[in-house]
Amino acid sequence: MRAYGRLLRYVAAIKGEVALKVLIGLAISATYIGQALAMAKAVSIVFARSDLQAIVAPVLIALAAVLLRGFLSRMMESYSKVVAAKVKNKIRLLVFDKILHLGPGYLSDKRSGKVQSLVLDGIESLEPFLVNYIPQIITISISGLAIGIYLTSLDVVTGLIIIVSMLLCVIVPYLTVPLVSRSIVTYWRSYATLNAQYIDAVQGMSTLMAFKASRAKGRELAENAQGFYVQAIRNTTFSLIDSGLMMLLTSVASAITVAIAAYRAESGIFPVMAISTFLFLAAECARPMSELNGHWHNSFLGLSVAEELFEIVDEELKITEKEHADTVSLDGPLPAVQFQDVTFAYNEEAKPALAGINLEIKGGQTIAVVGKSGSGKSTMVNLLFRFYEPTQGSILMNGINIKDYGISYLQSKIAVVFQDTYLFYGTVFENIRMSHTDAADDKVIAAAKAAGAHEFIMELPQGYATVVGERGVNLSGGERQRLAIARAILKDAPLLILDEATSSVDARNEALIQNTLDSLTKGRTTIIIAHRLSTVQNADKIVVLDHGELAEAGTHEELLLKGGIYADLVRAQRGDENNA
Ligand code: ADP
Ligand code: MG
Repeated sequence: MRAYGRLLRYVAAIKGEVALKVLIGLAISATYIGQALAMAKAVSIVFARSDLQAIVAPVLIALAAVLLRGFLSRMMESYSKVVAAKVKNKIRLLVFDKILHLGPGYLSDKRSGKVQSLVLDGIESLEPFLVNYIPQIITISISGLAIGIYLTSLDVVTGLIIIVSMLLCVIVPYLTVPLVSRSIVTYWRSYATLNAQYIDAVQGMSTLMAFKASRAKGRELAENAQGFYVQAIRNTTFSLIDSGLMMLLTSVASAITVAIAAYRAESGIFPVMAISTFLFLAAECARPMSELNGHWHNSFLGLSVAEELFEIVDEELKITEKEHADTVSLDGPLPAVQFQDVTFAYNEEAKPALAGINLEIKGGQTIAVVGKSGSGKSTMVNLLFRFYEPTQGSILMNGINIKDYGISYLQSKIAVVFQDTYLFYGTVFENIRMSHTDAADDKVIAAAKAAGAHEFIMELPQGYATVVGERGVNLSGGERQRLAIARAILKDAPLLILDEATSSVDARNEALIQNTLDSLTKGRTTIIIAHRLSTVQNADKIVVLDHGELAEAGTHEELLLKGGIYADLVRAQRGDENNA
């Protein structure tokens, strides 16, 4: 319930759109009222058997009201879609932003499938509440009150009964919430679990198959699907009881209204003619109420989802920003980076991923980090980007501890091509623009060209407008990497980090991208983590990591002469290439 209160803040963010929806809603109500009044008039003319020709005008008015309503309803429908997309986008961005700040540590703790299911489907289920229920209740408050006041002016007692029963219609559903919501929350949880398992199962299909585990996994999925089915039935039962209650309430209220109105007319308290007005208008009060009830029921799923979303939004950041954080010292000279005795372990039991690293990178230098898989290269990137905090020691940029910078400020100065490229659900355009949300289309395309991505993008079904990411078009590892490189180019930050940025790109495209990357390193501080040593020979300094420790450092020539790990690695790779 509290979650709904918080959701209202998102409605506040689209005040204008909601107001327009309310206006259209009021116009629709007005057509119903106009129709009701015109019909009441027509009926009373028939009853009075007066001049039957007079009936033509009210009937035409009623007809016009019906036609106008058809038009307005269509308008409402398409406008609702626009508003829905807007709200959902806002909430998605908020959650994405938070997940981004929580860093990879958060996602690997939780099931990534669960978070995905929440962000994709979960947010969809907020739509009925935000986009339908809220505007509807505002519309009803205005139109219902207007009708109620009008009827009260005709006859106080009957008018008040109608007002009270309308109030009950709005309030009663809230009272049954504690009863119904637990069932709905369980429903969503079992749906989400099932969904997350499907996503995980499909993504991990090759692993499952490799380990011949798919049959057991299938059985587990089937059991969960059965649980979900039971929950769905229970849920529907609750909804039916609840709607039944509402239907009863509205019917009884209308019956009582009509009976009282008839009685008072009979006793001559008010004219027979007014009865038909009451009849038609009372029906007009009941209609939006049952619509409202429908929206309310559709909103339920959103309640439990909202709670889970807020769990993410409220999740405490392990990495915090200091008060009065520095947001200027990276604006001037090219960033110099210093690792001072940095030690870091992902968890207390594990042995450190980095141990006692000392490293100095001057502004504008290009340094390469090499080493076997698991030696701690990507961990350095994670620390620099402040996904994690060093366990010991400190990292400085331009002489200032990176802890002392504003987090977004720091991250805005670093363009990283991460080892694993994450594409979110959206168009290619949006995926590249992620790093620079207000970049013009031609800038995006230029970045894609430089990254060697333009060609394959143009071959996608809708070019740059093709939807990629989970549930979108699948891209190969190399194509994903090229999009990530385009992102980094577009971001145009003074510190560039390439973490095995071209490891999945084929040789032809790598040669093409390499030129771009070479020119990209000019006028920047660059850290290249490379798997193919041929790409790092020109670096100002090469650093070799071994089991989390800095084993050796120097230029290509120095390290070859030294005949240590680097020399061995180079010899091994030359051997591979000669054999290939
Ligand atoms: P590299 O990039 O050189 O291949 P990493 O920095 O990714 O190496 O990993 C260094 C060590 O830290 C490895 O032993 C790896 O298993 C471990 N590690 C990496 N990421 C995580 C994580 N998110 N949680 C726990 N351990 C991790
Ligand atoms: Mg790595």
